Amino acid sequence: MEKALEQQKMWFWIALISSILAVVGIPMIPIFASAKIWWLMTVGIVFVAHGFYGLALYWMAYSNARRRVRLIYAITEENILTLDKLAAQISYGQRETDLMIKKLITDSYISGYYYENGTLIKREEEKKTRLVRAECPACGAPVDAGEGECVCEYCGTHFKVEVKLK
Ligand SMILES: [Zn+2]
Repeated sequence: MEKALEQQKMWFWIALISSILAVVGIPMIPIFASAKIWWLMTVGIVFVAHGFYGLALYWMAYSNARRRVRLIYAITEENILTLDKLAAQISYGQRETDLMIKKLITDSYISGYYYENGTLIKREEEKKTRLVRAECPACGAPVDAGEGECVCEYCGTHFKVEVKLK
């Protein structure tokens, strides 16, 4: 979330400052042309040209960064984990949202999730579902265990659990 928020902030300032410079640049051109201060007139031209080419891009980058923050918030804070609901939440197309979710994972904006068939799954939940009820081979006590080595909490016996996937 931190990284996404920082990028949102960064693009906002770049877009805002470029917008201001473009607006300031417009009157600079005729004012300094008539005053024959050529270098300041040139600065005005650079501000305006920079704004002309850059502004749409910067504001677009800002709006994307903002959308990404909202998407991360929806996933991690509001626990919305399906593609259709996430797309609705951020008012964005499903295909585009799908790409965004994949990018969140590959660029490590969110961790502890994997994404499959339009659904995000938390990794710890995946582990929980793999827990099985096993029986201690020494004392017969029921033990909730994951796959592999485990210890009976009643008698301390170490034993191995094999999970048969259905
Ligand atoms: Zn036992």
